[in-house]
Amino acid sequence: MKYEKRILIDLDGVLNEYGKDKYNEYFIPKIKSGAKNFIKSLSEDAELYLFTTRNLMLSTKWLIENNIDKYFKDVTNIKISSYLYIDDRTVCFKGDYEKTLKDIKNFKVYWKE
Ligand SMILES: [Mg+2]
Repeated sequence: MKYEKRILIDLDGVLNEYGKDKYNEYFIPKIKSGAKNFIKSLSEDAELYLFTTRNLMLSTKWLIENNIDKYFKDVTNIKISSYLYIDDRTVCFKGDYEKTLKDIKNFKVYWKE
């Protein structure tokens, strides 16, 4: 294995301009500013997987169109064992259930603010 760390990265809201237009299952919004450099840097130390609920072929096509497919090992909709998961809709559990309940209650995706 080339890398010690594997990282799964969400597509909608992390790598693209999700949330600005109405959701369309056949169209993936444009790449977010800075996403390419982010992915490039991250790929130097970790094996990257695009982790999405979207159609896998459509997602792969989006990676190719944005010229970032070379930084990804694969596209998956399965939560495979990983060092980290990067997502815009997540609460990080740090061992405290009470805090986690509060975090869930107060959760807001950044792109809706
Ligand atoms: Mg997302």
